[in-house]
Amino acid sequence: MEYDVAVIGCGPAGLTAAIYAGRYGLKVIVFEGMPSQLSTVPFIENYPGFEGSGYELLEKMKEQASKYSEHAFERVVDVGKDGDWFVVKTDSSEYKAKAIIFATGGTHRELGVPGEKEFLGRGVSYCATCDGHFFRGKKVLVIGGGNTAVTDAIYLKEIGCDVTLVHRRDELRADKALQEELFKRNIPVIWNSVVVRIEGTQKVERAVLHDKIKDEDFVVEVDGVFIAVGMRPQTELAAKLGVERDSRGYIKVDRRQRTNVPGVFAAGDCCDNPLKQVVTACGDGAVAANSAFEFLKVE
Ligand code: NAP
Repeated sequence: MEYDVAVIGCGPAGLTAAIYAGRYGLKVIVFEGMPSQLSTVPFIENYPGFEGSGYELLEKMKEQASKYSEHAFERVVDVGKDGDWFVVKTDSSEYKAKAIIFATGGTHRELGVPGEKEFLGRGVSYCATCDGHFFRGKKVLVIGGGNTAVTDAIYLKEIGCDVTLVHRRDELRADKALQEELFKRNIPVIWNSVVVRIEGTQKVERAVLHDKIKDEDFVVEVDGVFIAVGMRPQTELAAKLGVERDSRGYIKVDRRQRTNVPGVFAAGDCCDNPLKQVVTACGDGAVAANSAFEFLKVE
């Protein structure tokens, strides 16, 4: 149960770190407590050399990483120190490592409106790829204006849902290429509007929206509400080791993916890097593995 590097997180950042660290000759373990956000992305068109679903890409990465690292399907519940060792406690075991790479990504942000929690799984969803097929031929709203919301709206339209996007401003945040795909498919957008509450009896029947320009509420009859309003970084474990985070909770790293704690590195969406893409997560993972290797070499 003693390793050179423990990688916490099994998305593109963690898996790339595992491939690189393993190929440096380090003994590596990767912890997968829950599926990466990448597994829920319906399609990827901006990762060079690959076009397909996030799940497909992730499976290829896992297969490749398994050649160079061990994989534990265990959720990390605590991290600490024992002399020079980092101690990683999971829901079933305890491991020791000389260095740690946090690649813990993020989880979906909530709207925090009435009905959101109550109708989760009964019309409210945060994952179009997981739940979209239940809504074929039905009317759904996608909330948000970023890459995730626009990708989800396109996907839902493709599988036969009657989709409308709802955005709180009059301009989308998503990449221009995605916006063009959205408009090409004539997916309507309700601009300058936010969700006030989600209503129904057994399942979602309607959403009450607020038009910010007219300053009035209006009702849209719908079967489903897909919420895609961004991410919250998962960095509580790193904080237990004294790792510094920014005001939004992202782990502060330098250009070598080093945190303020010697031997602790971070990569991907949990870091305070400006661009959050699969390709940059992979880059972070490679750099973090290299920094871990340098750290262990000098030690
Ligand atoms: P994001 O880029 O942070 O966008 C979140 C969207 O939700 C924004 O449009 C924001 O509005 C809106 N929003 C936030 N809080 C809201 C609220 N309370 N009510 C209504 N709307 C709200 O998040 P994301 O789209 O999940 O993307 C996260 C990261 O992953 C991004 O860096 C993105 O580029 C990346 N990503 C990439 C791809 C891809 O390349 N294929 C796919 C998915 C995600 P405002 O615009 O007004 O702030």
